[in-house]
Amino acid sequence: MYLFVYLVLGLLGLILGSYFNSWIWRVHEWRRVWNRRSICVHCEKQLVWYDNIPVISFAWLKGKCRHCHGSIPAHYLLVELATPLFFIAVAVHYFILPEFSAWQFFRDLFFSAFFIVVFMYDYLYFEILPPLMWMASAIAFGINYFFLQISLLSLLFGILIGGGFFLLQYLVSRGRWIGSGDIHLGILLGALLGWEEVLVALFIAYVVGALVGLGLLVTRKKKMQSELPFGTFLAVGGWVAMLWGSQIVAWYVGLIR
Ligand SMILES: [Zn+2]
Repeated sequence: MYLFVYLVLGLLGLILGSYFNSWIWRVHEWRRVWNRRSICVHCEKQLVWYDNIPVISFAWLKGKCRHCHGSIPAHYLLVELATPLFFIAVAVHYFILPEFSAWQFFRDLFFSAFFIVVFMYDYLYFEILPPLMWMASAIAFGINYFFLQISLLSLLFGILIGGGFFLLQYLVSRGRWIGSGDIHLGILLGALLGWEEVLVALFIAYVVGALVGLGLLVTRKKKMQSELPFGTFLAVGGWVAMLWGSQIVAWYVGLIR
């Protein structure tokens, strides 16, 4: 039974991951999202179906376009592999818990996909799409409040912390430290995680961001002033806090007692 669920989620992840790649690219290029077959990012030739099979086509074509031999960007493969792996990770996570909550399971599947898109979009284009954040915030709030009975106070306080934290930085620095997109993503994290776990997400994002920044400085790939896509780190923090936030909070509270 479990194996079957993993298989279905793995396949679904492969297909969706492939779709996310083209969605990310098309949205950025202001292409029509619907009703268009996938095309090569270099020569814009339409892909035949057998060149568009997730992962397999990438390996078969050795990461190059059949027509112009332009490289298929490596992040395509990353998204195609990450989506099924994250889906299966969510399933494993909830199947080992004593009580299974279908709403929480589906919420976390949805937001795993969401965080992958946010991660990639900000990494590639240094941009967080506000309308996407508003839609996701409404979904997160709705599921948490109506179906998971998470307290209104925790959610509102989470939104205040997540959004306020970035709004403050944005206002103080007049938009030099962070982009306005981080405010919208902060609000979403609050609505999804509540006030305790949004702190976990922020903390993880800063630790990961600092480590990556330091790594890039040491290897001299970036200068001190160069910008890092903070939404990418927030997506990592948000995903970890979504799945393990309550355990991390419990562990921390036990630590300071
Ligand atoms: Zn091509």
